[in-house]
Amino acid sequence: MSYEGYYIHFCEEGHESVRDAYEDDPEHCRQCGGEFVASFSVDETNGPDEHGFCPGERELIAYREHLHGADKKRELEDLRMEIALECSRLKAAIRDIGHAAGLNTEDVPLILCTVRELRDAQ
Ligand SMILES: [Zn+2]
Repeated sequence: MSYEGYYIHFCEEGHESVRDAYEDDPEHCRQCGGEFVASFSVDETNGPDEHGFCPGERELIAYREHLHGADKKRELEDLRMEIALECSRLKAAIRDIGHAAGLNTEDVPLILCTVRELRDAQ
């Protein structure tokens, strides 16, 4: 069985340049022309192991996580801000509904409970 697999090069910006085993190596990043700072080869000749990974694939995944970890953190921060915003909108909506119905907001404990859960989730 002949070799099957691919190579991935990462530039300084984290762009990925992929090539299969029979192509020539690119000299520079295909997206920005930058220098490569890391390279990985994934050997698919014998398929994935019992855990679902081909040789070299775990290292590639670990490197991607290392690269994108900061982005994930930022996404979580954005999500928290969104929840806080929704929470204050919800509180205002409950107050308005309560006033319109001539109720005290204490009369809608179930909805307030949801607001509290949202707030505590932050
Ligand atoms: Zn690049």
